[in-house]
Amino acid sequence: MDITFKDVSYIYQANSPFAHSALKDLSFHIPSGSFVAIVGHTGSGKSTLLQHLNGLLTPTKGEVRIGDFHINSDKKPENLKELRSRVGVVFQYPEHQLFDETVEKDIAFGPKNFGVSDTEIAERIRDIIPAVGMDESLLERSPFDLSGGQMRRVAIAGVLAIKPEILVLDEPTAGLDPRGQLEIMDMFYTLHQERNLTTILVTHSMEDAVKYADHVIIMNKGTKYMEGSPE
Ligand code: ATP
Ligand code: MG
Repeated sequence: MDITFKDVSYIYQANSPFAHSALKDLSFHIPSGSFVAIVGHTGSGKSTLLQHLNGLLTPTKGEVRIGDFHINSDKKPENLKELRSRVGVVFQYPEHQLFDETVEKDIAFGPKNFGVSDTEIAERIRDIIPAVGMDESLLERSPFDLSGGQMRRVAIAGVLAIKPEILVLDEPTAGLDPRGQLEIMDMFYTLHQERNLTTILVTHSMEDAVKYADHVIIMNKGTKYMEGSPE
């Protein structure tokens, strides 16, 4: 699915004294299968932008198109659930959304919610566990008993288990040690390459943007400052 932003503006708490314009007339196009990095200072609107990709936010003005889904100021797409089964989002510190269940149940939560059968979920988990560099022996443990890096992998596995066509990553390596950061980024790159997964990465690391992405968008104060190839 291609992604198109057309003149998108977003105002938090519009029509209130606290109104804050977080995106201003933002336009760009991301072809299916790309690896795009979005960089920019804190507060430049990166997370706000990402939240439009699965219909969490609706533009105050303009339109967001994801494949055949149209998200505009009038409405969210009718089939929001289908959109969310096709756009997987790893939010900042995704492990905060895990439950004190078993790792297996935590990973199964998303696909179950989308009506995927138990046998299919079991198959997906077998496929994902090695892909995220996790040990199968952890499946019966509680994620709360694991290290920070392991918990992060569980949360990521939960998003991958949905089998999204587009993977949206909001600083997925924040707070990990340098080795964990490298392992996780290499994992995302491999997934992108091997599964032709469209990947949208928000990062503070220009190094990662240049290393992994084929296209970079630089945000500044809610607008697109620059975009192009990493070079
Ligand atoms: P960071 O790199 O720190 O994660 P960001 O680029 O992701 O920053 P956003 O979270 O998109 O930035 O925030 C953009 C702007 O919108 C900021 O000025 C922020 O204060 C404001 N903002 C974000 N969420 C809200 C909210 N719920 N209500 C009001 N303003 C908000
Ligand atoms: Mg952010």
